[in-house]
Amino acid sequence: MALKELQNLDLKKLAQEGVEKSKFDSAFVYRYPFSEDMPPVNLKEFEESAFEFDSVEMPLYIHIPFCTKACFYCHYFKTVPSSEQAVENYLQALKKEATAYAERLESKARINCLFFGGGTPTHLPAKKINQIVSSMEEKFEFAEKIEATVESSPETLSEGKLSALAGKFNRLSIGVQSFDDEVLRGANRNHSGEQAVKAIEAGKAAGFESVNIDLIYGLPGQSTESWRKTLETAAGLGLESVTASSLRILRGTKFRSMPESAFPSEEQKLEMHSAFIEKFSKQGMLHCFPYQFVKLGQQMLFLENQWSNREFLGLGASSCSFLNKWDFNNWFPVQNYIEKVEENGFSAAVGKRISKEEEMIRMLALGMKKSGINREDNGVNKIEFEKKFGAGIEEVFKQEVSKLRELELLKESNGYLGLSPKGLLFFDEVGRVFASKN
Ligand code: SF4
Repeated sequence: MALKELQNLDLKKLAQEGVEKSKFDSAFVYRYPFSEDMPPVNLKEFEESAFEFDSVEMPLYIHIPFCTKACFYCHYFKTVPSSEQAVENYLQALKKEATAYAERLESKARINCLFFGGGTPTHLPAKKINQIVSSMEEKFEFAEKIEATVESSPETLSEGKLSALAGKFNRLSIGVQSFDDEVLRGANRNHSGEQAVKAIEAGKAAGFESVNIDLIYGLPGQSTESWRKTLETAAGLGLESVTASSLRILRGTKFRSMPESAFPSEEQKLEMHSAFIEKFSKQGMLHCFPYQFVKLGQQMLFLENQWSNREFLGLGASSCSFLNKWDFNNWFPVQNYIEKVEENGFSAAVGKRISKEEEMIRMLALGMKKSGINREDNGVNKIEFEKKFGAGIEEVFKQEVSKLRELELLKESNGYLGLSPKGLLFFDEVGRVFASKN
């Protein structure tokens, strides 16, 4: 969306219609029902029905919750480990949990992608990370060629570590956030912009098929000028994938106690998001999600799967899974997680088997994320939705679709209902409008 059109955006009118940008406590929509509405898991029901499905290919997510220090915006479950033994105890529990799932899934699940997230998985030595991968390969059935991603932070990467990891992973994702040192300091990041550039270059030299960087806009002290420079640097690095997230100021983070005036305004953030889209759509890259561009052929199966309402398994403290309509999170912090795994192998804490109505909302609220400025399959496939639920999108979400169309946030093309160029700037807010149906 051009900046000229941005100036015509009536944020007040959108807010009155329930499409409101809010700085505080408005989390990324990554599941439906939302986490705060999830009850404690009924373990008996869970064990009886979570594994009752036919053969599927699914991603396996592994949560490594260790970091070198805590960033001021971070709401993910992470910890600075107290000792090597504490790390070892966690990894043992991880293996035990994997065994419990592998025994129940038997050969029904084939792992088609592996994602090590956190935390900072590369806080661990490469040897330990690769050992966990080998242990997963022994327990689960893996597809012949899988997408394997490891998340990292620049200060934890060295040439030796990267080349060892490239033996097991084909994708490297680096949390960079900004190349501006002042902005990085203000967010309590543990690296400089220069270190980030070196880590990216070393990652590329190590032979990963794809290197992604994560950036954040809306950080304190971050001007539009600084953001544009960060985009310029990123564009010059020949990356396979660039992800730009809007800062979310959530409870429990250091930023939550700072005044609103410390952060760029919502208007500035819209301009920053728009600048991201403008910059990378000119690079011949695919806008696969509103917040991510990739080189053609480098679409991320892991996220496509998640936004398509398909099964995935998450292991480790706080991780999230979706199995036979069971949407649930594991226990955290580490000690609780370990105790639960010791008790019965699983560590499911909150979640439930979602109803058909909830699944329809989930399909739309998450599926809207499969929208991009140049995606041909933009959004949710209307025929697939109708086949699955026996009713069309417009029939089930009559009011919501008509309101969003009036606000020019939706676009229909090639049999898909997805976000319009304007809607791409409001992808979570549109998801919340579909969620408001309940
Ligand atoms: S490195 Fe990542 S996981 Fe760790 S505190 Fe920072 S943002 Fe959170």
